[in-house]
Amino acid sequence: MKGYSTLSLIRNALGGHKSWRPIWRTPDLKKSYDVVIIGAGGHGLSTAYYLAKKHGIQNIAVLDKGFLGGGNSGRNTQVTRSNYFWPQSAAFFDHSLRLYENLGHDINFNVMFSQRGVLTLAHSHHELEMVRRWANAIRINGIDSELVSPSDIKEIEPLINLESRFPVLGGFIQRRAGISRHDAVAWGYARAADANGVDIIQQCEATALNIENGKVTGVETDRGRISAHKVCFAVAGHTTVLAGMAGFRVPITSMALQAMVSEPIKPCLATMLSSNVIHMYASQSDRGEIVLGGGADAYISYAQRGGIPVVEENVAALLELVPAFSSLRLNRQWAGITDITPDTTPIMGKTPVQNLYMSGGWGTGGYKAIPAGGDTMAHTIAHDEPHPLIADFGLDRFETGALIDEGAASGVAH
Ligand SMILES: Cc1cc2nc3c(=O)[nH]c(=O)nc-3n(C[C@H](O)[C@H](O)[C@H](O)COP(=O)(O)OP(=O)(O)OC[C@H]3O[C@@H](n4cnc5c(N)ncnc54)[C@H](O)[C@@H]3O)c2cc1C
Repeated sequence: MKGYSTLSLIRNALGGHKSWRPIWRTPDLKKSYDVVIIGAGGHGLSTAYYLAKKHGIQNIAVLDKGFLGGGNSGRNTQVTRSNYFWPQSAAFFDHSLRLYENLGHDINFNVMFSQRGVLTLAHSHHELEMVRRWANAIRINGIDSELVSPSDIKEIEPLINLESRFPVLGGFIQRRAGISRHDAVAWGYARAADANGVDIIQQCEATALNIENGKVTGVETDRGRISAHKVCFAVAGHTTVLAGMAGFRVPITSMALQAMVSEPIKPCLATMLSSNVIHMYASQSDRGEIVLGGGADAYISYAQRGGIPVVEENVAALLELVPAFSSLRLNRQWAGITDITPDTTPIMGKTPVQNLYMSGGWGTGGYKAIPAGGDTMAHTIAHDEPHPLIADFGLDRFETGALIDEGAASGVAH
């Protein structure tokens, strides 16, 4: 892989940017691979990268029915934090945050990780009490979390109206949390995986899984059959479809989650601002747009558009908190299909089919998990044994009842 550096930027700028090479190859599909990963989103690509880099497995294909990063990995609001309640989630998501802190160097691609803090607001005395408990639990987990008063909040975010219908009584902030550029994360992992010998095959849909005597042996695609020693699927909103191909069911519902951006304005929002009660979160992108999100649509759907009432609710919620934004125009709105589990914790690891692995159920919060998701799934695939950090995230928890209920504990999971 040709490394990016200040020197290479200058050299190429002087040459009119005509000698950059494509950042990944367009290889022919081979008949057989050691590992086939279905889904070239952040999770599929990072799994391939760590498999090749850390475990020396290089005969890997990552298939995508569309284009890489065209699923939720390129549609999310980029929130990256580790302030989860349960110790298992905290350990996993903090591993991810730490990998994000060095990701630009590791994959030699600027992912624009900006640790600007995630500020969560409380609007009632009850909520403030829950926020205190939540923040303390996070600290017990060894993760930074600071309670803030209304005057602290006004200092951090001067535009917030503290006395709206939902008065702001306090909150907490994780200062190491922040946002990064989602396309860069997908492209950076794709480039690094490709440089480690991984074949990324776009426009190639997995249509069936070949299973013999309870063991996966290959994948049927719209471009022919591929035999594979091991197969992993990381297909976000289509987890139930792939599980169906393998003959088992997963407790997942698929819903559209929307996001939207305003026209660009000068820097005015310092943090990633979040309110569980009003149900919205917002940050300002590097281009100056206000990036806004909220809850998922209230019905099950595979349409990547989302309903209009949610747009209205999200905008109304933002204006309750920051009335100054009322003169902004909304530029774009989009949606992705999120696969939501009953406890809002992902399902990762081995499946009832031998040599078939899954990484799904990321719901509304799997972007922040891309580095750790790839790292731990690569370990799991290479050793046929769940990585210790994801040992409790397996499908079997829905039989044993050992759920990790972040939905109840942390509320919003973006
Ligand atoms: C609007 C929105 C906002 C979000 N905000 C945040 C946030 O702020 N922070 C956060 O942490 N998370 C957020 N998320 C969630 C996050 O985006 C996802 O959890 C994460 O991107 C999932 O990554 P993935 O690689 O598993 O899936 P994806 O990126 O969706 O990739 C899956 C890929 O699988 C492919 N595929 C599907 N079926 C097949 C098949 N049969 N054959 C071949 N390929 C197939 C698809 O084409 C797709 O490219 C948000 C999601 C949405 C929709």
